[in-house]
Amino acid sequence: MTDIRWDILTIGHLSRNKFWGESDRQAYRAPRCTCTLIRTQGRNIIVDPSCPPEEMVTVLEQRTGLKPQQIDTVVLTHFHGDHRFGIEAFPEARWVMASREIEDCKLKVSEGSADRQILNKLQPAEEGISAGIELLATPGHCMGHHSLVFHSEGMKVVLAADAVMTKDFFFAKDYYFNTVDPAAAVKSIEAIAEIADLIIPGHDNYFYIKGRG
Ligand SMILES: [Zn+2]
Ligand SMILES: [Zn+2]
Repeated sequence: MTDIRWDILTIGHLSRNKFWGESDRQAYRAPRCTCTLIRTQGRNIIVDPSCPPEEMVTVLEQRTGLKPQQIDTVVLTHFHGDHRFGIEAFPEARWVMASREIEDCKLKVSEGSADRQILNKLQPAEEGISAGIELLATPGHCMGHHSLVFHSEGMKVVLAADAVMTKDFFFAKDYYFNTVDPAAAVKSIEAIAEIADLIIPGHDNYFYIKGRG
């Protein structure tokens, strides 16, 4: 089995968290997503670059000692701004996202805009990310949302991104206020619950699922 190492670069948080008694009607803080580095077979893959480019470079160095040129692939789980803040820190890397999300966003983003330039550079993740890393469709939060699934240290890891906002959202089988299709979002949480030993959520630290692993 392919040996895969993963490290959290930034632990995410939400702009509003109803499990903390906060209202969904206002932002209490700027959001930050959880950003992960996956290392396998000499490859360095960043998933959801969360900080502005300059800070992203600093965080990468602080957490791993790596330089931006050593990142060969950037994966976006979906196209929300907080999940791609730092993508420009990696101009030489291959940028990938699921084709459904690329196509859905191209319908909404106007030609010539900065976002459109990013979309045009993104390649379909279905063409392959790396051996041992599977793409899992987890629609609901947005319809093109995808998670990553891989084995590490004997556990099945689901990098769920916004299919699982935080640990509290997961165990309550709940979805975020901006969810496009709530029923699909709940199904995606259930699908993840069936296979995962460990979950890397979109806006929280990683957590284990009790009794597995
Ligand atoms: Zn999102
Ligand atoms: Zn998010």
